[in-house]
Amino acid sequence: MKLLEERILKDGVIKPGNVLKVDSFLNHQIDVPFIAKLGEEFKRLYADTPVTKILTIEASGIGIASVAAMYFNVPVVFAKKASGSNMDKDVYFTKIYSYTHNKVNEVVVSKRFISPEDKVLIIDDFLANGCALEGLIEIVRQAGGTVAGVGIAIEKGFQGGGDKLRANGVRVESLAIIEKMDSQSKTIEFR
Ligand code: 5GP
Repeated sequence: MKLLEERILKDGVIKPGNVLKVDSFLNHQIDVPFIAKLGEEFKRLYADTPVTKILTIEASGIGIASVAAMYFNVPVVFAKKASGSNMDKDVYFTKIYSYTHNKVNEVVVSKRFISPEDKVLIIDDFLANGCALEGLIEIVRQAGGTVAGVGIAIEKGFQGGGDKLRANGVRVESLAIIEKMDSQSKTIEFR
């Protein structure tokens, strides 16, 4: 998606360790009219696919998942990282390694919110090695639901997670795929 590629080139900051910061518009400060266009594009891509729920992971996926949900007219469920005292006891549970924070998060989704009838579109801000998506797919599997597909704003193609999922038959639609980026020369190449 040209619009997103241009915004990444304009406002993205490449950090050492292959991390791209886009926190001025996507996942810290949020440019809502802009990310609404990304949500609309997910709807265009999945126009013919039945979707009953959108699933993401807290915190940075919630913004983009929520605007996408406006176009799909379905609820958003986000996997919660800590099971606080007011969390349901009846939950789907998995562990997800966080690439950016270098730690394992235990995540839960209440069994009330995904059921075997659900056709789930998984949306997230980034796709790198694919750990977050594997965890979210595992939660849909535990619920007996169907993964309708995956929608990602920015895929770092060079980290391989997206292609591994595609090879396993998961439909992955990424709005921008970075093939190469370099923090020294501050350059980004898209697929
Ligand atoms: P994965 O699990 O695919 O390795 O990484 C995806 C998750 O890590 C996303 O949920 C995202 O929040 C975070 N992430 C991975 N790479 C980046 C990055 O370059 N920049 C930012 N801001 N987040 C990232």
